[in-house]
Amino acid sequence: MKLFADYHTHTKYSDGRGSPAQNIEAAAGRGLAEVAITDHGPRGIGIGVAGPETFITIKEEVAALAPVLPDIKVLVGAEAAVVSSDGHLDLPKEIIDRLDLLIAGLHPYYMPESLREALLYTLPNLAARFNRSAREKMRNANTKALIETMHSYPVDIISHPNLMLPVDTGELARVCAGKETALEVNTGHHYNKEEIVRSAARWGARLAINSDAHYPESVGELASGLALVEKLRFPAEMIINAVSVPRGRFS
Ligand SMILES: [Zn+2]
Ligand SMILES: [Zn+2]
Repeated sequence: MKLFADYHTHTKYSDGRGSPAQNIEAAAGRGLAEVAITDHGPRGIGIGVAGPETFITIKEEVAALAPVLPDIKVLVGAEAAVVSSDGHLDLPKEIIDRLDLLIAGLHPYYMPESLREALLYTLPNLAARFNRSAREKMRNANTKALIETMHSYPVDIISHPNLMLPVDTGELARVCAGKETALEVNTGHHYNKEEIVRSAARWGARLAINSDAHYPESVGELASGLALVEKLRFPAEMIINAVSVPRGRFS
């Protein structure tokens, strides 16, 4: 199996360090055929872009630089945050319509949409990180929120399910399978990725293996994700950025 794309990378437009051009050059240097620039939506505290229109600025920058950049396919997308219990994302649909790729994910620190949401969803999620019984309740709330997101937006990938905020990966995988949304195996963070792969296999959901690079040097660093899916014998044709490579006689 070979991975030909990294669909989740950040730049200095959100909380990354490099420019879009540096991420693109790094991806080409790793031999990838495709890379996505997917900065955080604007409501992430300390991590988000300045505003929704920043994504259009990034698109224009990438288009203008295209003649001098390596010849690989570049997607400009976003990693939008789920900012309410009914699955709202922190980007308006007019901007999402102009993106090449939409990643949606749960993140603990963001500006909630309303005081009610802050009290009923955002703050309980933060408290649940340190309280076992509250965790179970928020696991259901988070799963429901992400499923609402999938019903309301054209989500290509759910980023790092189960990282920091708990979700029911089986239920997510079941809904993803019907929608062709991929669950992410994120090599940039430590969390229970094996459970994601097993849930995807069980329900027939697709996976994406991404770096979530915040530095150009980490773009395309996907080896641990590849090793995991190979260990669990997850099929390449169900991974949106993988192709199966026939085994040679001596391999
Ligand atoms: Zn994220
Ligand atoms: Zn990210």
